[in-house]
Amino acid sequence: MAFFQPDRYFSSLACVSIQHDLLRAGLYNVLLDVDNTVRSRATDDVPMPVIMWLARAKDAGIRICLVSNNWHANVFSFAQALDMPIVAKACKPLPFAYGAAMRKLDATKADTVAIGDQLTTDVIGAHLAGIPAWLVMPLCDVDVKSTTFMRGFERALIGARQPEGASITMEEGQAR
Ligand SMILES: [Mg+2]
Repeated sequence: MAFFQPDRYFSSLACVSIQHDLLRAGLYNVLLDVDNTVRSRATDDVPMPVIMWLARAKDAGIRICLVSNNWHANVFSFAQALDMPIVAKACKPLPFAYGAAMRKLDATKADTVAIGDQLTTDVIGAHLAGIPAWLVMPLCDVDVKSTTFMRGFERALIGARQPEGASITMEEGQAR
């Protein structure tokens, strides 16, 4: 794995195939970022294709733990509403939260993948923890200030790399 590059890059969580990308690859545990991966920073909403994806993943036996740098109370109520465990105040890219999340799921490095929208937190943090990291495009352009600052740097690292699923809509993606 290239340390500063995601192992895979998708246009959205809904474009990750639960059957092909996760189950067939033996990846049964997903450590999932919250803001702009699952929930839009602009509206606080979870897009319907993402809601559907989460439901299908659960039905397929995929275990998910949210891993978020967010420290506000609403991230805990959000996890509760989704009925998912969470490690918040994660301090990504420090790797410790990934270890804590894997312990919550009884997961191993061999059957786990991290998915998030930020290279400098989600991807590097997962790689420091020794697990693969998949990057998704952020759900919207709204970010907290510290994130906005890092986006330019992240764009430079990604360069011309194109996300998988860019040519299909989120609705098509959810059917995969
Ligand atoms: Mg995020």
